[in-house]
Amino acid sequence: AKNAGKSQIVVYDMALQEEAVSRINIQKELQQAINNQELVLYLQPIVDISSGLTVSYEALMRWNHPEKGLVPPDLFIPIAESCNVIFELGYWAFEECSRIIRDENIDVPLSVNLSPKQFRDPNLIDRVKSTLTQYRIPEGSIEIEITESSFIEDIESALSIMNEFKECGISISLDDFGTGYSSLTLLQRLPAVKLKIDRSFIQDIITNDRDKNIVQGIVWTAQSLGLSVVAEGIENQEQLSFLREMKCNLGQGYFFSKPLPVSHYIN
Ligand code: C2E
Ligand code: CA
Ligand code: CA
Ligand code: CA
Repeated sequence: AKNAGKSQIVVYDMALQEEAVSRINIQKELQQAINNQELVLYLQPIVDISSGLTVSYEALMRWNHPEKGLVPPDLFIPIAESCNVIFELGYWAFEECSRIIRDENIDVPLSVNLSPKQFRDPNLIDRVKSTLTQYRIPEGSIEIEITESSFIEDIESALSIMNEFKECGISISLDDFGTGYSSLTLLQRLPAVKLKIDRSFIQDIITNDRDKNIVQGIVWTAQSLGLSVVAEGIENQEQLSFLREMKCNLGQGYFFSKPLPVSHYIN
């Protein structure tokens, strides 16, 4: 038994070591990925539920890895966030959105995700401003999506960053809404314009009364604060009808379209 325990520890250590090695490899490869032009943004429409018209596109990062193929962000964004590569990835995404707006004929705003770490970067606003100038981005053509973890630690400085975005003509969505702890009092102070209800609440909305109530509560909250509300992860007509009845005004999900390469959207 003693020996078995020992070898188990060895196996466990090796697994950890392998994981560490693979993380370090991914970190190194990510640093190269930008220069090698391996990163791409896919766009997914956000749709006005009553008219069916696309109001904006969310830009979602993919890594076109030379050996592994198209890698989804859940497999590399968390690793990038654990080291400083996320800053470069984040700036790349913001610049690439700016380039798409300047060069491609897309007639609605693009919405780009900012990681919480990036949101707290003291250079963020300066870099954003200079990119907006460099690409001559008209006001209202870029939006950002941030999660509550971006501002829950230091609300005052987050508020001032959010206000600077607003002054740059960039509106803010609160992503994964419902999973964190934002109070009504806090929401009232934020210059955010959209709440994005996390997909986890939409998934079982037909059968799960608790989820249904949470979604209805968020929709009413948004309405009372004059905010738009986006339901994420709509996959079927039934969910859509439910959300329409709840007076949720915007939707996003595979039912409308999966995220697709930019080339799909240009005429
Ligand atoms: P998110 O910001 O919550 O993005 C929504 C995710 O839900 C996307 O996954 C999208 O493809 C997926 N989705 C949309 N509709 C449906 C649906 O109907 N069903 C299902 N099952 N999924 C749906 P994706 O593209 O894999 O991105 C995952 C996460 O990676 C994002 O979650 C976001 O947190 C992060 N991410 C993606 N791009 C960036 C980026 O440029 N910067 C940063 N910091 N994070 C990013
Ligand atoms: Ca998002
Ligand atoms: Ca989201
Ligand atoms: Ca999410």
